[in-house]
Amino acid sequence: MNYLSTRGHADRKRFCEILLEGLAPDGGLYLPETYPQVDTATLAKWRTLPYAELAFEILSLYIDDIPAADLKAICAKTYTAEVFGTDEIVPLRELEDGVYLEALSNGPTLAFKDMAMQLLGNLFEYELARRGAELNILGATSGDTGSAAEYAMRGKKGVRVFMTSPDGRMSPFQQAQMFSLQDANIHNIAITGVFDDCQDIVKAVSNDLAFKRKYRIGTVNSINWARLLAQVVYYFAGYFQATASNDKPVSFTVPSGNFGNVCAGHVARMMGLPIQTLVVATNENDVLDEFFRTGVYRVRAAVDTHETSSPSMDISKASNFERFVFDLVGRDPAKLRQLFVDDLGLTGSFDLSADPAFKQAAERFGFRSGRSTHADRLAMIRDTEKRFATLIDPHTADGLKAAREQLTPGVPMVVLETALPIKFAATVVEALGEEPARPKKFEGIEALPKRVVQLPADAEAVKAYIAQHCD
Ligand SMILES: *Cc1c(COP(=O)(O)O)cnc(C)c1O
Repeated sequence: MNYLSTRGHADRKRFCEILLEGLAPDGGLYLPETYPQVDTATLAKWRTLPYAELAFEILSLYIDDIPAADLKAICAKTYTAEVFGTDEIVPLRELEDGVYLEALSNGPTLAFKDMAMQLLGNLFEYELARRGAELNILGATSGDTGSAAEYAMRGKKGVRVFMTSPDGRMSPFQQAQMFSLQDANIHNIAITGVFDDCQDIVKAVSNDLAFKRKYRIGTVNSINWARLLAQVVYYFAGYFQATASNDKPVSFTVPSGNFGNVCAGHVARMMGLPIQTLVVATNENDVLDEFFRTGVYRVRAAVDTHETSSPSMDISKASNFERFVFDLVGRDPAKLRQLFVDDLGLTGSFDLSADPAFKQAAERFGFRSGRSTHADRLAMIRDTEKRFATLIDPHTADGLKAAREQLTPGVPMVVLETALPIKFAATVVEALGEEPARPKKFEGIEALPKRVVQLPADAEAVKAYIAQHCD
C-alpha cells in the first residue's frame, strides 16, 4: 500500500515512512492511494474475531512494511482487557430501541483518543527500535490529547514527550492525570498563557528546522494517519455488535472537532462497511455543521471560537477535513489546492454550495450533521440519566442530541461515547447536582505528587528545556 498527499506531491510513501511524519512536504495530508475493499465473505470472517485480531486484519490491509507476525503482536499487546477494561474493548449498549452507545472511553485516560494513541505508542517504539532512532514528541494540549499521548508513551524506549499546556486552565482531574506521571521520559510543561500560546510555541519550534533535526522533534497530532487508521477498527467492531448479519445498514453519530474520528468512519464506509449515515455532531463551534448544511466552509477567528462545556470540540478549523474533501472533489489535487491553499489562504473560507460535488457529501458519502448548545447538553445528560440510568459526558451528549435528529426506523444508530463523565465533572454536576462515579484507579489522584515545570510563553525557553533534557 502506498500513500499520497492530498495536495498532489509526486512522492509515494509506505506506512512506516509516514508513521513518524506529520504533514506531507507540500502541506497536504497523507491518504492511501486506494481504499481496500472488504466483501461480505470477509465481513463474515471478521464478525466473530476478538478486537485485537480484527485490528490486525484491518491494519494489515494498510501496512505492508511491518512483518505480519510483528504487527499481530503489536495489536495483541495494545488491545487488552487489562488496558481497556473489558474483553470487547469497545462494548456496545442499547439505550432505547435502535439507539446505542459504543464505549470508546475505557482506556487509561478515559477518552476515545486512547484507542489510537495506545497503538501509536507501540508502533513508535517498534519502528524506532528497528531504525535505532529516537524521537522527541512536542505537543500542545488543553486536555485529552496530551494525557492520551503521555499514557501511551510513558516508559517507551526511544521516545520522550514534552507536553505544553496552559498553566491552570485544565480541569483539576485532567491536570492530576498528566502531572502525576513520574516516568522519566514524560515532561509536563505548564506555560504561562492560553492554549493558543502553547500551539504557537510548538509551531515556532517546528519551524526551526535546524533545531527540529538536531533534537529529532516529532508530533502526535490528529492528522497522523496511523491514529486515523486505528480508529477505523471500532467502526467495524460497533457494526458487528449492532447487527446480526452483514446485510444490515447501521448509522453512526460522532462528536466531532478536528474531524479525525468521523473521518475514520468515512474510511470504513469507503472500504465497504454497510454504514448508511455518518452524523457529524458539533457544539457551538459549528464550522462543520455549517459546511454540511450549506456547502460553505468558513474557518473561525480566535475571537469567534467559543469556550464551551464540551471543550475537546472547541475548534476554529477541522484539521482532518481536507482528507474528506479530497474524496469529495474526486481526488483531484488541483481542485483541492484551489480550495485549501488559494481560497482558504485568501479569504479564510471556500464555497462549494453551487458545486455538484457538494450534493455528493450527503447523497454518495452519507454525511449529515447537527449542532448543540450548552442547554442541549445539560438536557441530554439529565434525560439519559433519568430514562436509562446512564451517565454520559458533555461530548457524548452533543452526539446523542444530533443522533436523535437523524434516526431512520429500522436502522440502528450508534453514538460514539468519546469520554467518561468524570473527566468533565463540573458540567455533569451542573446537570444532575451530583458528582459522577470515579473509576477506582483514579481515586485521590489530585493529591499525588505533581511533576511539572512552569515556563513563560516563549519558544526559546521551551527549546532550552528540551535541549537540557535530551540525554
Ligand atoms: C478529541 C475529542 C473529540 C473530537 O474528536 P475529533 O477526532 O477531533 O473530531 C470529541 N470528544 C472528545 C472527548 C475528545 O477528546
